[in-house]
Formats: sequence, C-alpha cells, structure tokens
Amino acid sequence: MNSIAQRLKHILTQIRAGERAYNRQPGSVLLLAVSKTKPAEDIAAAYQAGQRHFGENYLQEALKKQQELGSYDISWHFIGPIQSNKTKALATHFAWVHSVDSLKIAQRLSAQRPPHLPPLNICLQVNISEEASKSGISLDELPQLCEQIAKLPNLRLRGVMAIPAPQHDIEQQRQPYKKLYQAVAQLGQVGLDTFSFGMTGDLEAAIAEGSTIVRIGTALFGER
Ligand SMILES: *Cc1c(COP(=O)(O)O)cnc(C)c1O
Repeated sequence: MNSIAQRLKHILTQIRAGERAYNRQPGSVLLLAVSKTKPAEDIAAAYQAGQRHFGENYLQEALKKQQELGSYDISWHFIGPIQSNKTKALATHFAWVHSVDSLKIAQRLSAQRPPHLPPLNICLQVNISEEASKSGISLDELPQLCEQIAKLPNLRLRGVMAIPAPQHDIEQQRQPYKKLYQAVAQLGQVGLDTFSFGMTGDLEAAIAEGSTIVRIGTALFGER
C-alpha cells in the first residue's frame, strides 16, 4: 500500500490538474485532509509531508488529537454536525467551522469565540440535494441567513459547504454544485470567497464547479 506521503502527493497532483483542466487559478483549491477516525500518527505523517489543514467531524476525538499534536502548526477545521452544547469548544479550538446550519449556532459561536483569537471562519452548510436525512439549510434560507450571520462580530462568514447525494457520473455530480455556486454569486454579498465542495468521490466535479476547499479523507488516509 502507498504511504500517506505518496497519496498526498498524488491528490495534490490531481487538484493542480483539475485547476488547469477547468481554467481555475493555479493554487486556488485548498486541500483539507479529513482525518476523522484516523490516529494522530496519520495526521503527523501528512504534516511531515507538508499538509497543514485538517478536518475533523467529532469534537471529543478532535480535541484528543489536538492535544497529542500540540506543537504542530495545524489549521483545524470542524466539518461535522454541531450540537449547541459543543459550540464553546468549537469556538475555542478551531480556525474554521464548515457545518453551521442555523442562526442560533452562529450566534453562540460568535459569542463564545475567545477575544484573543481572530474571527472564526465559517461556512453555511446547504442541503443542496434536499435530502430529508441530511443536515444543512435549504437554498431558500440562504440569503436571509447570510445577511444575519454576516453581522455577527466574531465570525467571518466565508461561504458555503455542501455534501450532495452521491452520484457516479461526473455530469450529475456537477449539477448541485453549479446550482449552489450560482445562488451564492447572485447574493452579491461581499467577502464570500469559499466553496467547500468535493470529497474523494467527486473531487473533479467539485473543482469544475468552483470549489476552493476539497475535503478528502479516504483517498489520503484509506478506508474508514
Ligand atoms: C468524512 C467526510 C469527508 C471525507 O470524505 P471521503 O469520501 O472519505 O473523502 C468530507 N466531508 C465531510 C463533511 C465528511 O464527513
């Protein structure tokens, strides 16, 4: 089996190739390494190979790994479902939260962001495939929530995150991202520069439709 360093190199090559193929600016797509369920040693291996942004889904697991890797200069992103009793820890221990899905959660994150830290970067999670089981706001709610959240002092609203229903065909994978990208463009809201689109199975489709952060777990760390 390939090492994490080799797989990291391969994914970065794929990302750069996607940028060229779809006329994206070189370097405009950031790799977020999704390390949920994987040990701190795997994160350390990717870090030694140059990776700096890591995504986690479960708070307790993330905090444990953050402690184990205390001396590492890592930018931690939270990408999992948010319970309101966890917002204080999220506001304290992360640089980014991609999965904000209500004004209430955003207000808590803003109020609980420690004053010595820069504003917390957040994305609104949009349930773009309108699946009843998935979390995220609906497209209709996006304009009003953006306006309200943009006013919160200790947050920096950066954009949107989506997890569309899985599809095999690249053209089908592109459709929900295209729709959400256009909806955000139409808002005309300043400062929205982030599209957290794409996982192992739809990396190319996401880059084609404007992704600026791809969240990759399986292709880098192996099956969970
Ligand atoms: C697990 C997870 C990923 C990574 O998925 P892979 O298919 O393993 O690349 C990305 N985003 C979110 C929100 C996840 O929960």
